[in-house]
Amino acid sequence: MPAAAPAPPPSPSGARPLSPARKALIKLGLVRDIDLALHLPLRYEDETRIRPIAGLRDGETAQVEGTVVHSGVQQGARRQLKVLLDDGSDTLELRFFTFFPSHLKTLAEGAQIRARGEVRGGFVGRQMLHPAFQPAGGPLPEALTPVYPTVAQLPQAYLRRAVDSGLARADLSETLPPDAPPAPGARPLWPLRDALHFLHHPRPDVALATLEDKSHPAWQRLKAEELLAQQISQLESKRERDRLRAPTLAAARPAGGGLSLHEQLLAALPFQLTAAQRRVGAEIAQDLARSVPMHRLLQGDVGSGKTVVAALAAAICIDAGWQCALMAPTEILAEQHFGKLVGWLEPLLAPRGQRVAWLVGGQKKKERAAMLALVESGKAALVVGTHAVIQEQVKFQRLALALIDEQHRFGVAQRLALRGKGPGGLEPHLLMMTATPIPRTLAMSYYADLDVSTIDELPPGRTPIVTKTVVDSRRDEVVARIAAQVAQGRQVYWVCPLIEESEALDLSNATATHAALSEALPGVLVGLLHSRMPAAEKKAVMALFSEGVMGVLVSTTVIEVGVDVPNASLMVIEHAERFGLSQLHQLRGRVGRGAAASACVLLYSTGDSGRLGETARDRLRAMAETTDGFEIARRDLEIRGPGEFLGARQSGAPLLRFADLETDAALLAWARELAPAMLDRHPALARRHVERWLGSKSEYLKA
Ligand code: ADP
Ligand code: MG
Repeated sequence: MPAAAPAPPPSPSGARPLSPARKALIKLGLVRDIDLALHLPLRYEDETRIRPIAGLRDGETAQVEGTVVHSGVQQGARRQLKVLLDDGSDTLELRFFTFFPSHLKTLAEGAQIRARGEVRGGFVGRQMLHPAFQPAGGPLPEALTPVYPTVAQLPQAYLRRAVDSGLARADLSETLPPDAPPAPGARPLWPLRDALHFLHHPRPDVALATLEDKSHPAWQRLKAEELLAQQISQLESKRERDRLRAPTLAAARPAGGGLSLHEQLLAALPFQLTAAQRRVGAEIAQDLARSVPMHRLLQGDVGSGKTVVAALAAAICIDAGWQCALMAPTEILAEQHFGKLVGWLEPLLAPRGQRVAWLVGGQKKKERAAMLALVESGKAALVVGTHAVIQEQVKFQRLALALIDEQHRFGVAQRLALRGKGPGGLEPHLLMMTATPIPRTLAMSYYADLDVSTIDELPPGRTPIVTKTVVDSRRDEVVARIAAQVAQGRQVYWVCPLIEESEALDLSNATATHAALSEALPGVLVGLLHSRMPAAEKKAVMALFSEGVMGVLVSTTVIEVGVDVPNASLMVIEHAERFGLSQLHQLRGRVGRGAAASACVLLYSTGDSGRLGETARDRLRAMAETTDGFEIARRDLEIRGPGEFLGARQSGAPLLRFADLETDAALLAWARELAPAMLDRHPALARRHVERWLGSKSEYLKA
């Protein structure tokens, strides 16, 4: 469904520059009437009642009317205006630290005043600091007064008027078809118009708690609407994709008989696939055999064996006579990740006259040109490199499958990059791999457009990793532990802190740690790896560690993903409080790959405050409590919220504003059921519904 162009903000003279308030409205995405109508209050103020002063309680916000019996400016440490109000039941002191001559006039003795503010108890009677005030006796509103989310340049009063006029003008006609399934819960959904009018101006007798927790029927309607819009647009893009065509890749025997590459690779593997690997392998093979492009996420914990599954998919593609691209986020990861796999595949491809092409940034011009020629001629059956492989001007002859590893954020960008890479209007299949699983609720809502395969089992023989958090001042004990591990022939990773602002600081810290550990561990080869080292040097260091010659490897986060040294049994993460949860989990996954008991030490520092921040503490606790990647992802979502978890701007998915995936699971299920029926039977209503909710938002998110 094409997104409607947002209506230009109404401007009386066209050319006149926008006022700051108008600009602020646009910044908030409040462009169309319906956007304003859907901008809902954060909370309400009750201006419908006048309360007797005698009944006011400390801390509540209230409105009173009375006569000014005293008014005067008090000099002293803080100059202030003090006004004493009497309503016959008791007196109330109004205090102002900033005031204008007009205040003095309105609040003169004898004046009848209506004041509104937070009540403070206190020994010397009740007070209000800086209350809002006006002459007494004006009409009282019949509804609660809405307080809207806003920004600095946008005063509440202006926003209230804008919302009211948007609400009056917007098209609020019903988009739910008469045959919609009943909404969860006992009551039918309110009409949208009633729900919106109610939420903007609720009657004062409403149970405020039901507005706060959004359980009120008016909120139910809004959340149902929002979820439905999201489900329809996700389903729409899935169907759009289903209209595209991809090469059908069925596992095939070579013409002259003999084993297929797929069979050869299976035979060459030094282990048996786990049941989970076989299951997801079959899911992928089924997708590849269809003429609709695959759009699948393969998720499985660190070390669960995703790469092999990807290699088998590549083999199916190559067997069918097509090219496959395999990508990792960085060059070093591409090499580490796929080194083993390429080692398995290359000897099998050579007899068929096929090659593996490497495409990485640091390549010599001549080598690169040769690789590009291999890709273009189709001789390279497998092309390995960074994401640039599909983004750059790499011309595939017959690309049919793109495999993207450790892609934390995926979606639109990759899909678009693949457009047109296949021959003759065919779209390549796409498989993305991640060790950071998407919690189920998110998968159902934000990634309804994505098929998910899950490896939920680790290869046999892995030992559970024990995780300990240790305060930085006990570093010496950690060093002693390292010495003990190395004495037993084990190896140790030490990951240095992430200082995002400064690569130089990262480096100096790693260098210092490297020097300190070298000194503390005489006779142990301590290596250093950081992102600025020349590729050849990195390779040499990695080789020494892989071969077991090097006991300790100090590194910046370049080993975050992909290193595979089963003899490593201890992972120390310095300044663990600075890392994100999924990153910590990835790092920890570098140990526990062999039979030896493994441990992860999270060294943390509390800095000057002497205490860890709340989110840092939550992250470290989650790490210590579980090694399950799914549980980690759930906690990560809890700590960060869906916005950051998803990286909304990048994924292009507008975030839910009102619905909560946990509490509104039943409404989500309702929306999932209704969405296909809307598209099939009521396409015009579906379009109007999505446009109402996402019409300008999608544009706004891309801005
Ligand atoms: P990840 O899912 O983190 O990418 P990898 O694919 O790198 O995991 O696999 C981790 C390690 O486990 C590799 O050394 C790989 O060769 C090995 N491996 C994969 N599958 C199995 C299996 N079924 N049995 C034993 N080892 C396996
Ligand atoms: Mg991997």
